[in-house]
Amino acid sequence: MEVIQPVKRNVLLNPGPATTSDAVKYAQVVPDICPREQEFVDIMSGIRRDLVKVVHGDPDKYTSVIFTGSGTVVQDVLVNSLVPDGKKICIVNNGAYSARMVEIAEYYHIPNINLEFPSTQLPELNVVRNAIEADKDIAVVATVHHETGTGVLNPIKEIGRIAHDNDCVFVVDTISTYGLLPIDIEESNIDFLMSSAQKGLAGMTGASWTVGRIDEIKRSQAYPTRSYYCNLFMQYDFFERIGEMHFTPPVQTIYALRQALDEYFEEGELVRWERLQKCWQAIHKGLEGLGLASVIDRDIQSRLVVTVKAPDDERFDFFKLHDYCFERGFTIYPGKMFGLKTFRLCNLGLITEKDIDDFFVVAREAFEEMGFSLPIT
Ligand SMILES: *Cc1c(COP(=O)(O)O)cnc(C)c1O
Repeated sequence: MEVIQPVKRNVLLNPGPATTSDAVKYAQVVPDICPREQEFVDIMSGIRRDLVKVVHGDPDKYTSVIFTGSGTVVQDVLVNSLVPDGKKICIVNNGAYSARMVEIAEYYHIPNINLEFPSTQLPELNVVRNAIEADKDIAVVATVHHETGTGVLNPIKEIGRIAHDNDCVFVVDTISTYGLLPIDIEESNIDFLMSSAQKGLAGMTGASWTVGRIDEIKRSQAYPTRSYYCNLFMQYDFFERIGEMHFTPPVQTIYALRQALDEYFEEGELVRWERLQKCWQAIHKGLEGLGLASVIDRDIQSRLVVTVKAPDDERFDFFKLHDYCFERGFTIYPGKMFGLKTFRLCNLGLITEKDIDDFFVVAREAFEEMGFSLPIT
């Protein structure tokens, strides 16, 4: 991929979109093309195969279905398409993104069970098992792999086993782990997972997909059609018959996704995961130097997001910290936890340990500007 001129590099420590390579940015600059042309159809089908490969899916059992939109579009698709008439979806909910799936079910008037747990903890598996065993109308169990709002990593394999023991389809939002943390779809008991181009693969916003079981997609043809644009079977069927999305795809985003996938396979799943874990360790080290701590226990952290407890001090101003860092090329993000002053540092994109170390040099200056002497006590 030809990079005409390097683009100013920003280190994004927000929870997506992520820092991308210049090659991904420039991959969008292509001759105008009608997406119905064979050249584009071939690119799409190669991408669909590779999206299954990222999670080690058996192509005879699993396929990928791509939609135009940000990550939430695929939450919408799976929640509205996979619940049979008269059946329920049970959402194992310990954070903002599982709560969003509850909200989607509500919007479609789909009977749902909102199995709520504290956002700082893992769901209690015996409670999950009892709830699912107690209600034979539950057909789908859904949860989030990594609650990006807090950084908690959920035990999906165990929840999936409970779902399967009760003949339920298991749906997992892996939007903030896919392409980052190694996932084996079948081994993790997942029937449908989700991802979005601007997150783990460090592509551009505008394309999101599920990787899921072909037999269950076919079965869903008989389920109520609750959305026109966001129906899983309709989109799958179009891909299979015509090789295309039903409606106009985000053409340039797809070219960038092709490049992002090439870079993913080139770096390698384990090398990438190593790089990201080093960033996470550097975040903890930097926080210690500042005298700050994370809210979530380290052993349940995804190693991709750290929720930082903000100093309980009137001199602390998140916006001052943000603006100081932003002007120097680093983007940080507010917290998403109710009733607690926090901010988040996320290491999802094409960044390195050195970027994190550089960030903390700047962050230290910002805290000193606010009048703190470091480390904060
Ligand atoms: C980012 C994200 C989403 C999707 O959010 P969008 O703003 O629609 O891209 C969904 N689930 C999780 C866990 C996420 O991190």
